[in-house]
Amino acid sequence: MASFAEEDYDYLYKLVLIGDSGVGKSNLLSRFSKNEFSLDSKSTIGVEFANRSITVDDKKIKGQVWDTAGQERYRAITSAYYRGTVGALIVYDITRKVTFENVDRWLKELRDHTDQNIVVMLVGNKADLAHLRAVTTDEAKAYSEKESVFFMETSALEALNVEKAFTEVLTQIYRVMSRKTI
Ligand code: GDP
Ligand code: MG
Repeated sequence: MASFAEEDYDYLYKLVLIGDSGVGKSNLLSRFSKNEFSLDSKSTIGVEFANRSITVDDKKIKGQVWDTAGQERYRAITSAYYRGTVGALIVYDITRKVTFENVDRWLKELRDHTDQNIVVMLVGNKADLAHLRAVTTDEAKAYSEKESVFFMETSALEALNVEKAFTEVLTQIYRVMSRKTI
């Protein structure tokens, strides 16, 4: 077991959050790491990350989740952001079609910068705003199947599927990694 100051973990995995500005990336991360949600969009300058550990098969898996913190607005994400990434959540807003249309570009950029084995989940956020829905679950699901990525709809506001989405990505990475070493 790796010993790191007062905190022990068996595996440390770097995840990145990508997707258009305003889709809820920062709130998904604060919901997952601190169980917090904020109504205003304060896009912090510079890259930030937050950690949270989960347990799978008695192993402590620490997810280090990086947030673009505003640079995505200018599509100015550098290769340093992607370095060492083993999992990604590509987020769109179910009420803004263009954010779903742009997923393809985000996926390409991700694949250009990362290893083949990377675990990717497509995340349709703001599922609480069903009356404003502009992207159907079926079309997003079809796209995820075509691209062989996982898919989930979430609400950072209502804490719907947020835990599940991050946990699923971390668990899948653990499965892929342990298969590789057998
Ligand atoms: P980012 O630019 O992708 O990091 O998006 P933010 O996390 O800053 O969120 C942008 C705006 O969407 C903020 O006003 C949030 O309060 C709001 N927001 C984020 N997630 C949700 C959600 O699940 N439901 C609703 N209704 N609003 C959300
Ligand atoms: Mg943000």
